[in-house]
Amino acid sequence: MEQREWILSVDVGTSSVKATIFNEKAELVREFSSGYPLIQTRQGYVEQDPFKVLEAFHWAIQQVLSGVTDCPKVMVLSTAMHALMAVDEFNQPLTHLVTWADQRAEGMAGRLRSGPEGLSLYEKTGTPIHAMSPLVKLAWFRENESEIYHRTKLWADLKSWILFDLLGEWVVDESIASATGLYNLASRDWDQDALDWCGVSGAQLPRLVKTTDIVGCVKPDLAEKLGLGHDTRIIAGASDGALANLGVGAVNPGSLAISIGTSGAVRGMVNEPKLDPQGRLFCYHVDENHYIVGGPINNGGILVRWLQGILLSGGESSDTFYEQLNLGVAKITPGSDGLFCLPYLTGERAPFWREDVSGSFWGLKLIHTRDHLMRAVLEGICYQLNSVVELLVHLIGPVVEVRATGGFTKSKVWVQILADVIGKPLGTLKHTQGSALGGAFLAWYALGQISSLEECAELIPPARVQAPVQTRVARYQEGYTLFKELVNLGEKAYLKLQEFAQKGASQ
Ligand code: ADP
Repeated sequence: MEQREWILSVDVGTSSVKATIFNEKAELVREFSSGYPLIQTRQGYVEQDPFKVLEAFHWAIQQVLSGVTDCPKVMVLSTAMHALMAVDEFNQPLTHLVTWADQRAEGMAGRLRSGPEGLSLYEKTGTPIHAMSPLVKLAWFRENESEIYHRTKLWADLKSWILFDLLGEWVVDESIASATGLYNLASRDWDQDALDWCGVSGAQLPRLVKTTDIVGCVKPDLAEKLGLGHDTRIIAGASDGALANLGVGAVNPGSLAISIGTSGAVRGMVNEPKLDPQGRLFCYHVDENHYIVGGPINNGGILVRWLQGILLSGGESSDTFYEQLNLGVAKITPGSDGLFCLPYLTGERAPFWREDVSGSFWGLKLIHTRDHLMRAVLEGICYQLNSVVELLVHLIGPVVEVRATGGFTKSKVWVQILADVIGKPLGTLKHTQGSALGGAFLAWYALGQISSLEECAELIPPARVQAPVQTRVARYQEGYTLFKELVNLGEKAYLKLQEFAQKGASQ
């Protein structure tokens, strides 16, 4: 086995670029982040300016390399999934990058989901039918932006935009492609039925490359500008979700990665495509022998921030709030004395994939305090994640361990609640650069410097493991059953609530 080399791993996300350098021991040597704003010009629109993203991408690389004497000779890319951007015949963007969070195609997604075609497309592509998916966004453009739709020479995404900048060629890796809803997991090519459904041809999409492919070297003038050597090789890399599993070492059967940041996700890795019979879980390509299966939830830390906004009087800092939150929540017993929170403040993706659901508190009594509200919110988020875990267990088998990442790992009490709700030990890691480290692992694998992707689990053992407490596990099993009943009880009200709210807004 060749000696592992230093890797420049760049993670291009929804609101920032993180450029990192990892040494041969998988230690983070340097990192630099550069942000960009999300553009929300209309209700439901969430876009990125492609040129602002490039600016931040260049800046982050220049900064992370400044002062480094031994510049890495390999660069690998992690990017967010589901973005879509129209490009003209001169390779100029006709639109912004329409991100995963954009909801303009919600109606289109609902129509596709309610017919038989939705499930049949999911079965081939592994991408749940939702407004986030480029498949649905393309159909939206055809119906609503006909001029752009007809002028578009190529439909790009975040990864292919970055690779075009580096190489001057439109290519996309199969991991990002498999989250577009246009890629066939079995044939490993663009899916003709999906293309027909949204009226796009394979020639209008970037060329597919393997995640482990060395796609070329950075254009000489750009290499100069960024401070990279002319012989720096670029490895295509994968999506941030897939690489996060590698980066936390959740790669073996029974090992799940759970993250809670602003939103949340549960993901496991399998060796062949696994599809949910009702299309509720995603299945995305990593390489020919690895697939990521799981589900994202919308409502994670965003609820804590909402609580912070309504509970703080103004003067307190975030740190003070988190301190109060963690102390307060620890005082309340599991189950929050009968208070439940259904956390759907921003609709929900897995496992229902519906935008019309809304949040609620059930069981409120005069005995309930601010601390009860906070604990019920954290418990509600964990129950929701457990409903994704439950589906995953049916599909890929029992859970043995969970590796947790995201801002919530700073809260011992929240990590304990999740361990108790899931009923499994929860490992947390020292570092917070999951996807970037996952990129470095993939690069070493591509270069033959580690023997398998499974080696990631040994290279990155959890720094701390919190075991579930059996009495609380039993309490939460009962709580979870009740949570699901409450979700069903709320079912009839969601549409009426939405209509009622809309009428009020238009008066
Ligand atoms: P992002 O998804 O934006 O990268 P992070 O992974 O940084 O988000 O997570 C941010 C979330 O983590 C916050 O919204 C909050 O819910 C949670 N969080 C961060 N620090 C703490 C803390 N000390 N105690 C409790 N929760 C925390």
